[in-house]
Amino acid sequence: MKLLTRCSNLVEAHHWANLLRAAGIRVEVRNTWLSGAVGDIPQRETWPQLWIPLLQDESAAMAVIRAAGRDAGKLPVWRCPACGELLEGQFAQCWNCGADRPLSPSSEA
Ligand SMILES: [Zn+2]
Repeated sequence: MKLLTRCSNLVEAHHWANLLRAAGIRVEVRNTWLSGAVGDIPQRETWPQLWIPLLQDESAAMAVIRAAGRDAGKLPVWRCPACGELLEGQFAQCWNCGADRPLSPSSEA
């Protein structure tokens, strides 16, 4: 299993999961039970997670998520240059290592 990305809310997580499944990609939504238990743990640890069982699906899954982000008029998903984490466009920093988003995140779109 590989953690594909995190979503800031459950609605978005299930929306992306549905899009991925429609594209023939197996995906699991995890961490769905923590959102009501925010307390001592960092907020990002409570976010829903999208996991893919098959590593070879990762690039296709990312393409689906990128396309979905564009369709929704949101900022494009970007990949952290420091640690390689996949991040939603609204984030200006990597949640994983704290690196700033590159100045031209849309360059690969
Ligand atoms: Zn990072």
